[in-house]
Amino acid sequence: MRFSHFVHLVAGTLACSLSLACVAVRAAPADMPLSAVPAIQLAALRAQRPLPPIRFLLTFDDGPDAGEDGSTPLILRQLADNPVTPGIKALFFVQTAHPRRGGGEAGKAQMHATCLAGHRLAVHSGLPIGHLSHTRMSPEELEASLLSGEADIIAQCRGAAQLVRPPNWAYNDAVQAVYRKLGLGMLMSDVNARDGKIYGWHISLRRRSHMNSELAQVKVAIAEQRLPSMGGVVPIVVSFHDTNDYTASHMTEYLQILVEEARENGLVLADPPFYTDARVAERAARLRAQSGVYARDSWP
Ligand SMILES: [Zn+2]
Repeated sequence: MRFSHFVHLVAGTLACSLSLACVAVRAAPADMPLSAVPAIQLAALRAQRPLPPIRFLLTFDDGPDAGEDGSTPLILRQLADNPVTPGIKALFFVQTAHPRRGGGEAGKAQMHATCLAGHRLAVHSGLPIGHLSHTRMSPEELEASLLSGEADIIAQCRGAAQLVRPPNWAYNDAVQAVYRKLGLGMLMSDVNARDGKIYGWHISLRRRSHMNSELAQVKVAIAEQRLPSMGGVVPIVVSFHDTNDYTASHMTEYLQILVEEARENGLVLADPPFYTDARVAERAARLRAQSGVYARDSWP
């Protein structure tokens, strides 16, 4: 091949990977089987397909944080009344038996109030000692604690969401076998607010740039068609901690940041951009749990 031909070939390939117009030039004949379409051309064709809209599925771990000035009620007020999507409904993964969480009288009342406000509760920990990794329990202990946690939720709510989020994001085959046995979907997360203890309680000054990079990962996962959709919408799981008073006092701002940074990344938002029906949110979460694929593949 002459050098000038080589330059033209490279330039053509580059132009095709960058420009929309070249797809028409290189479009495959309608009767060509997909396997015969060159990979680079296939990538260009995929890039042409409009992205499905996303809807944020908010989840909160570790609570409840009860009381008049508690973080959970402060979050609930902002989910109900905010300029982005009034009436947002979320999933709360609670510690049902820890005396400072769901195990005390105030915590029980808060779990009841959270359900009454239309949200759904699921087990994070059913142990009085609270936040213990499920990987550190025997299958029998884990099963008993999950059943007892579910009973604690049912005592305050009409039912418990058939989901679980493992404390410290820690799981293994044995843990997953117990979840499966109990019919619980293990829900991890696409977007992590990084507001858990591991990052320090109030270090959220870079939250906008952090959310931007989290949503950039979401954009890649959606473009690669890795995330399942429900009703034409891809549910995007976002995880916060309702025990974090910084998160609680900035919840409305977080909602705005999510929407703005999603647009900034070229993601298409469903209308409304957040789930407003907890039952539908739970179904979407079950679907995501079943697929087991997320925009990220590791969790803090
Ligand atoms: Zn936790």
